Amino acid sequence: MSNAIVVAVDGPSGSGKSSTSRGVAVRLGLRYLDTGAMFRAMTWAMLEAGVPVEDAEAVAGRAVEPTIVSGTDPLAPTITVDGVDVAEAIRGEAVTRAVSPVSAVPDVRARLLELQREVIRQAVLDGPGIVVEGRDIGSVVAPDAPVKVYLTADPAARAARRAAEEGGSDLAATQQSLLARDRIDSGRKTAPLVQADGAVHIDTTEYTLDEVIDQVVDLVRAVE
Ligand code: C5P
Repeated sequence: MSNAIVVAVDGPSGSGKSSTSRGVAVRLGLRYLDTGAMFRAMTWAMLEAGVPVEDAEAVAGRAVEPTIVSGTDPLAPTITVDGVDVAEAIRGEAVTRAVSPVSAVPDVRARLLELQREVIRQAVLDGPGIVVEGRDIGSVVAPDAPVKVYLTADPAARAARRAAEEGGSDLAATQQSLLARDRIDSGRKTAPLVQADGAVHIDTTEYTLDEVIDQVVDLVRAVE
């Protein structure tokens, strides 16, 4: 039996998932997988190919086409589509607007689920493990993960963090866009955003990043 650890980190946008997950992975020498980046990469590929992203059938028909590869170094995560580095492009407004509808399409989820499980399987084989962040990691992708965390924060705090990341974009517009994505992500039929069974809820609003990382590291040490 491998002693490798899988840490599942779920929560809505701006809850601190990425910074926390990367910080935990760096501290513990684990790999890191940003599944949101994979959904963004799939969305980028659809937009590049001119697929009408609001047409679920059209999106489903193209879901097997792009080759999406995620690098898992928490200090330098990478993502490519058919060999093209899309790390920057997937953070743009067009992708952000289209990603939730594309992510609600079952064929998209099935395709990415396979890729995500393969990355996790490899990390567990190689040891010492991986921190995986997303919306359905603890509930669907890795339900047996020994550590599951569900991060939340006040919508205003989430919008402020996201706007700062985006170089000071408009706060009210950012908050609206976050809440619109939340509604789709939480309301979809396949693998909606939920607090998974066994997940520890951390409201990050009042904590610094280091404090949240400490809490998650403690949870990992408790199961080791
Ligand atoms: O984490 P990030 O905000 O980059 O994720 C972008 C979008 O990807 C989410 O709003 C959601 O629609 C989708 N997503 C998902 N399942 C995941 C990760 C992300 O549906 N595991």
